[in-house]
Amino acid sequence: MAKINAFRTQKGWIEVICGPMFSGKSEELLRRINLLQFAEVKYLMFTPNTDTRSGLKKAKSRDGRIIDSISVGCSREIIDWVNNSSEDVQVIAIDEAQFFDEELPEVCNYLANNDYIVIASGLDMDSWGRPFTPMMKLLIYAERVTKLKAICTNCGASASFTGHIKPRPMDAQILVGDKNEYTAHCRHCHSQSKLNYYNFPKVRKAKV
Ligand SMILES: [Zn+2]
Repeated sequence: MAKINAFRTQKGWIEVICGPMFSGKSEELLRRINLLQFAEVKYLMFTPNTDTRSGLKKAKSRDGRIIDSISVGCSREIIDWVNNSSEDVQVIAIDEAQFFDEELPEVCNYLANNDYIVIASGLDMDSWGRPFTPMMKLLIYAERVTKLKAICTNCGASASFTGHIKPRPMDAQILVGDKNEYTAHCRHCHSQSKLNYYNFPKVRKAKV
């Protein structure tokens, strides 16, 4: 007979919600936060601030829901906010995780190891199809990954890529903008996915 309960869960883990623009990542994060609010679980929500000023602000989803969030200049500040919180925080929510510094995955790991539940939402790739550095490690460290899809605006297939409408320089990895600048594409309609960055030899196409 088993000496342990094989279905016991230990508190402290990482959940990641990723996908392209227009796939509903922030809405999914807010949905999970809403569940916590009903259960009166205390949480703190963080967003990155590129101008390094910290403070409280409102996060707004595309469907108009508003929630308090803390804007931080670097991921280490999250630990300070948790330590200084007057409430018994159990969940750390992070939106726009792709814009954080490279230490974010380590901060999330550290918090999860100390029994916090971390839920991070962010773009996995830029509009050139290149991964965002903090997201790569976060996806590896996460116990639970939800990869959301949008709808390809070109062909209607399931879309995992963000496409840019106007030409963009390759060195620009910051994706800020909305429907007039970006769109959702499937692999086959995403023009950057056709580029051969690694100069691989030409490959014969698979039969359809
Ligand atoms: Zn398509």
